[in-house]
Amino acid sequence: MEIEKAIKLLKADKNLISRKVTRHTFYEYEEAVQALEKQIPKKPVWRHDTQLCCSNCGAAVYRDVHWNYCQCGQKIDWEDEQ
Ligand SMILES: [Zn+2]
Repeated sequence: MEIEKAIKLLKADKNLISRKVTRHTFYEYEEAVQALEKQIPKKPVWRHDTQLCCSNCGAAVYRDVHWNYCQCGQKIDWEDEQ
């Protein structure tokens, strides 16, 4: 299953899930959805035209260090930044 489809299915059940489970379990469900969303590669964004930053958390990212993932777990799409 593609990640986008999995997220869509999980979110579609959100209201139902929130009524059926404890607050703790619902928190875990939301964490899982967020973890899945971070697996979708996002391009880093330029800050002040000098620094590339994670589009999820805003932390500075460097291609040679964060070649795949930011420290927050966001997958980075470096395709246009070669
Ligand atoms: Zn990040």
